[in-house]
Amino acid sequence: MKIVMLGAPGAGKGTQAKMIAAKYQIPHISTGDIFRANIKNGTELGKKAKSYMDQGLLVPDELTVDLVIDRLAQDDCKNGYILDGFPRTIPQAEALDAALEKLGEKMDYAIDVDVPDENIVSRMSGRRACTGCGATYHIVYNPSKKGEYCEVCGEKLILRDDDKPETVQKRLNVYHDQTQPLIDYYTKQSILRTVDGTQDMNDVFAEIAKILGA
Ligand code: AMP
Repeated sequence: MKIVMLGAPGAGKGTQAKMIAAKYQIPHISTGDIFRANIKNGTELGKKAKSYMDQGLLVPDELTVDLVIDRLAQDDCKNGYILDGFPRTIPQAEALDAALEKLGEKMDYAIDVDVPDENIVSRMSGRRACTGCGATYHIVYNPSKKGEYCEVCGEKLILRDDDKPETVQKRLNVYHDQTQPLIDYYTKQSILRTVDGTQDMNDVFAEIAKILGA
């Protein structure tokens, strides 16, 4: 099963993607996580990506597309995958479709986790990310059982620079300009499914599991 997760930053698509990946035993591929790992490891890609990410802008397509296409060619993607944060632009979606077509494959579902803008900013300010493994929490909706530390690896949790309110508004503008057109793109392919992302995360997940037929 090949799935694309869509939704504004902070809609909870990363959390849902992880839950789907665990249930269906398919890899969760998050471009944001890949960029953050590169930043942490001080790679050339990380250095280039950081300047865009810190400003709430998208990393250019030419730094993003090949990275994902290469990742999808790896063995663990044979039975499908869930893409979280990619594609984020129409050219990225077209490049993905072209790569799939070469393999005689196609995307099965694009799931849009729908949350109105007004909910997003307040949600994002409560988000906490692990400085060690990248796991994400929310101080109200999904708190770590270890308080300010990560349940998974024990490292300190922080409010990411790109989750700060001034950056969030910019990311929302970028989302509406560049990513929202993908809703039409996947509607035309008849694979778009929309879920109400304002619900409790377990209810959102139940809706998605129903769509995926489990
Ligand atoms: P995320 O963790 O998915 O919210 O991504 C964090 C940041 O990484 C975004 O605000 C972008 O700067 C960058 N990023 C992640 N995925 C992409 C992508 N597909 N295209 C361009 N930039 C991306």
